[in-house]
Amino acid sequence: MPIERISLRALAVGVVLALGLLSGLLLGFAALTVKSAAFESQKKSLARVIEVASVEVIRQLDQRVFGLGTSLQARDEFRVALDRKLADGEGAPLQAVLRDPFVHGFVDAGQLDLVKLRVYDAALAPLGENDSKARLPSGLPPVLQTQAAARTGVERLKALGALWLGPTGPLYSVLLPVGGLRVRGYLEVVVDPSFNLTAVARMTRMPMTLLGADGRVLHSSASPEKPEAEMLAVDYVLPAADGQPAFHLICLDDVTQLRDDVRHTTFILLAGTGLLVCVFLLFAIAFFNRFLFGPVRGLQADMERCAGGDLSATIDRPMLKEFRVLAESFNLMARQLAGKIEELRLLSCTDGLTALSNRHHFDLALVLEWSRARRTQNLLSLIILDVDHFKLYNDHYGHPAGDTCLKVVGQLLNRAVRRPTDIAARYGGEEFAILLPDTDSAGARCIAEAFMSDLAKARLPHAASPTSQRVTVSIGIASCRAADDCDADKLLAAADDALYRAKHAGRNRIES
Ligand code: GH3
Ligand code: MG
Ligand code: MG
Repeated sequence: MPIERISLRALAVGVVLALGLLSGLLLGFAALTVKSAAFESQKKSLARVIEVASVEVIRQLDQRVFGLGTSLQARDEFRVALDRKLADGEGAPLQAVLRDPFVHGFVDAGQLDLVKLRVYDAALAPLGENDSKARLPSGLPPVLQTQAAARTGVERLKALGALWLGPTGPLYSVLLPVGGLRVRGYLEVVVDPSFNLTAVARMTRMPMTLLGADGRVLHSSASPEKPEAEMLAVDYVLPAADGQPAFHLICLDDVTQLRDDVRHTTFILLAGTGLLVCVFLLFAIAFFNRFLFGPVRGLQADMERCAGGDLSATIDRPMLKEFRVLAESFNLMARQLAGKIEELRLLSCTDGLTALSNRHHFDLALVLEWSRARRTQNLLSLIILDVDHFKLYNDHYGHPAGDTCLKVVGQLLNRAVRRPTDIAARYGGEEFAILLPDTDSAGARCIAEAFMSDLAKARLPHAASPTSQRVTVSIGIASCRAADDCDADKLLAAADDALYRAKHAGRNRIES
């Protein structure tokens, strides 16, 4: 679209509306993201809570397994059976101790789901295990094997614990030295940690589903969903010692209150910001109207007034700096234009040689004064004068001297008229006219005589004149009261007749 067809108002309103639309879109986007951001943040915090709870459960589990292992390896029967196995390879006593119902009773009464008890020699070679149903790969789990093999000195007297992935699911093993300061072997207590991890649901007070690494559901405390409630599922992955995922703890949090709070906050945010945007848009439009559209309208009106011919119309209304500069430039241009027009007007009314009014101005003034005289019923007088024998003057003194002579006559004529309403004009060639509003014939004669007297006093030489040796003029005067039976042309003709008579009567005289 050509730029001339776009108005400043349309552009500004377009920009303001585009801003409003953009703000609306941003607001909508913000409203959409607020909920997901709040839920995401809730998820992160809950995952942290589940992590802390599960770490605590594993810590407690470790302590209990350690307690079980310690009490078992401290029993005399166990040590004696281990010594028998180490000394002569007799494994039956060790099997009997490991099968001892006290151990299972202890476990059942306690907080552990015992999977396996295994015994190793000081070099971690398997010596025996109880005959529980669980089938585990022979030897220590690789994680514990690596950790235990890397130890030296007193480090070997410390117990080790690790969560590892067994063939049927995640297991927790604690490896304890047997034999006090002189390590004779090791006892490994293997438990199923999923039994204990259900405590996480109690600790976090959230319904929980516990999945194994293979996705099998090991435990679920999730109650049937309430239709009006919004539940947020938080999946925390509990890793094994080697970093592999061991358990998924999926807790459900009732976020109905959070959802309602988010909705409430979003509504307040949207309403508040929407209101602000509307106020801003209204303010922007009012601002544009006050400082942009208004001044432009004013400028346009002032310029149109000037274009209509009223060059006196200047722009001086309060406006912004840039508009002020524009207005000042326009005012300057209008002033200069008015000056030039006045100059032209004067030029168009003025005779170039004598600086008196020219014929054109005289004709206009005669029509004007005639109609005024008709209105006021006042007298109007007209003097027409002609330089005598001016052709001879030119012939004798030359044309430039003739011009100078006409200038002097013009100056004397200018001095002869006294009222501002009197108009002295060069009527043509060496002929002049004086229009005298509100003046009777006697008054006109008075002026004519004063002029003739001034001309005589000027003593302008005219050596070629047959009338006298000076420049003289012949004058015709006509006066009348403007009425229906008399018009401007008749007045002019009467003055011309009088002049003709003056010429024929010998020149250098006044006739009326
Ligand atoms: P009369 O006494 O009958 O008026 O005789 P006149 O010679 O003055 O009249 P005429 O009409 O025969 O000659 C007028 C002369 O005035 C002729 C012309 O050269 C001269 N003239 C007219 N306008 C100018 C002018 O602007 N400058 C000069 N130097 N002479 C002019
Ligand atoms: Mg003449
Ligand atoms: Mg003449």
